[in-house]
Amino acid sequence: MAEILDGKSAAREVRERIRAETAELKRRHGLTPGLATVLVGEDPASKIYVGSKHKACEEVGFTSFAHPLPATTSESELLALIDRLNADERVHGILVQLPLPKGIDEKRVIFRLSPHKDVDGLHPVSQGRLLAGEPGLRPCTPLGVMHLVHKTGERLAGKRAVVIGRSLLVGKPVAMLLLEEHATVTICHSRTADLAGEIGRADVVVAAIGKAEMIRGAWIRPGSVVIDVGINRTDGGLKGDVEYAAARERAGFITPVPGGVGPMTVAMLMQNTLLAAERSLGTEPGPAAR
Ligand code: NDP
Repeated sequence: MAEILDGKSAAREVRERIRAETAELKRRHGLTPGLATVLVGEDPASKIYVGSKHKACEEVGFTSFAHPLPATTSESELLALIDRLNADERVHGILVQLPLPKGIDEKRVIFRLSPHKDVDGLHPVSQGRLLAGEPGLRPCTPLGVMHLVHKTGERLAGKRAVVIGRSLLVGKPVAMLLLEEHATVTICHSRTADLAGEIGRADVVVAAIGKAEMIRGAWIRPGSVVIDVGINRTDGGLKGDVEYAAARERAGFITPVPGGVGPMTVAMLMQNTLLAAERSLGTEPGPAAR
């Protein structure tokens, strides 16, 4: 029976460390990290996500700046707001909640962000830095995945890691982060010929698909680490991409849904904002920001 990787308590620990380092930053440099959120429209799930980000800011001692905009906002109005936030010294991180309403080009908006304030790690400069192994802001969910993998105490060097999903938001950056730690990485997607076979050989499985319990428990190699990124709303409640009950019987470690990767994503957003604030001082970031 697998050990459960509790994202809620891991996220709490991260927030505690960030809170202490933020207090130190204020005391030493008079600097309060600031996060601006931009929410366009009324999507209920997006509202909840943005709300949880503001709450987290409050908990760790950051200033947050909410920019809720009507669904009728034009792309040029949104770009003008991004320009103002890029220039605002109180703002160290800018979070544009996705998806944006139809008619607004998401890429154009993300590309307009200052890479220094790109706390979601989605700007091409951030992604290029990840690929090049240069310091930069990494995407939050992949950072959360890695944090939970580290919690297992397992060394990644030489292990077989299988990532299912190849999005820019999750799959690709997770694969790069696993590779950075010397895992042998396979990326699977909708055209993969033998998904069960790939997963059966994996020491670490990261599922980021968006299909409820698609990864069958019987495919999991006994003793492996299973990180389930998926969030799927079903009649039976929130489900991950992994058939949890059956996978738990075989895995060595497994994340629950909810309560696994989800809470880590917000904690890593706080970590990135702290890092961006510390970098704005031109000094070495402290341990909680790294
Ligand atoms: P995308 O829809 O962008 O990507 C899904 C990926 O899954 C694609 O690469 C797709 O392959 C692959 N896929 C789809 N069907 C199959 C299949 N039958 N077999 C193998 N691969 C398949 O999703 P995201 O990466 O944005 O998100 C993935 C999941 O993670 C979602 O449930 C999302 O809600 C959740 N999520 C959770 C977060 C959190 O904080 N916990 C944050 C972000 C996302 P192809 O490229 O070939 O189409």
